[in-house]
Amino acid sequence: MHTRPTDRMQGRMKRHPAKVCGKLTPAHPTDHLAPPMPSEFELIRRYFNRPCAHTDLSVGDDAALVRPASGIQLAISTDMLIAGTHFFPDTDPCDLGWKALAVNLSDLAAMGAQARWAVLGLALPDVDEPWLSRFADGLFHCADQYGVDLVGGDTTRGPLAIGVTIFGEVPNGSAIRRDGAHPGDEIWISGHPGLAALGLACLQQRITLPTAARTRCIHALQHPEPRLALGLALRGVASAMLDVSDGLIGDLNHILERSGCGAEIDATLLPLAPLLAAGADEPLARRCLLAGGDDYELLFSAPPSMQTTLAALSTQLQLPLTRIGHITEHRGQLLLREVDGRLLPPLVSGYDHFA
Ligand code: ADP
Ligand code: MG
Repeated sequence: MHTRPTDRMQGRMKRHPAKVCGKLTPAHPTDHLAPPMPSEFELIRRYFNRPCAHTDLSVGDDAALVRPASGIQLAISTDMLIAGTHFFPDTDPCDLGWKALAVNLSDLAAMGAQARWAVLGLALPDVDEPWLSRFADGLFHCADQYGVDLVGGDTTRGPLAIGVTIFGEVPNGSAIRRDGAHPGDEIWISGHPGLAALGLACLQQRITLPTAARTRCIHALQHPEPRLALGLALRGVASAMLDVSDGLIGDLNHILERSGCGAEIDATLLPLAPLLAAGADEPLARRCLLAGGDDYELLFSAPPSMQTTLAALSTQLQLPLTRIGHITEHRGQLLLREVDGRLLPPLVSGYDHFA
């Protein structure tokens, strides 16, 4: 149905009494999406109400009802994606739907938790059904792949923003936290960290890569694979873990702070090869690997006795696991052992992608 934007806005306005308890009151009381065509509820029914696998009551009531298994802890995490800050507003909505859930699943992976339920908060500037349809396709593709039920959410008018809250299960006491690293533990990273940062640099037209490499790097940025299977397998193996969202060095510092120790990274062990193969020169490859964000790889520590277990796991999951250094007793001190043997503070940190 074609209407002028102003008609659309007014036609769907719903007079909501201002909600005050724990909810943001809309700047204007008519900011919520509303009837007549299609109503907020019709949109939710069309795009976000799908059969659930392990939920007692899902989308459609005031709250969802779930039944955590006995003897487990709930692992809960939330992440927001804001247009213009976390993604380009013209990003393919299918990729966006995938990524909105995937980055949350990555947090559960980093705890060694089993993903179970998600809720979705969506602020939309307007009702764009083709956009919603593709967004939902991407989101449910990810949900189906990782066994997550979407059990509720909230939909409102506003600048494009997506917030997902995720709930997972982990047996009492077996979550892998940031505070368990010990001096002598080795430091490992999964996958190919840095490709996403290269992808971002391509989109920002800071670098030019050969077509195939460019496609691969942008895919890494827009379609991260949450390492849930690895996270689960690392229970009882990793001593501390997190997922790398803001850059390897910056995120490793979080483990060091929480665990009260230091680290030495060995420059000769860094998995630079995929980045060099994609066309990055050595300094760029190193910056992307150490400081690039958005990788959603798992960074973890494990005692040296776990090396064989980790090698077997890498083969089993067909996922590279690279040992890049070790934990030291020097609280808060992160050093990089250069190729020539010198021990230096790394010249890159989180967020500082291409300083
Ligand atoms: P209430 O006004 O009671 O908060 P809503 O009208 O906001 O309920 O939502 C109606 C139902 O639709 C609820 O079950 C809610 O969880 C679900 N819901 C709303 N938006 C979404 C969404 N974007 N994705 C999934 N479920 C949603
Ligand atoms: Mg609501």
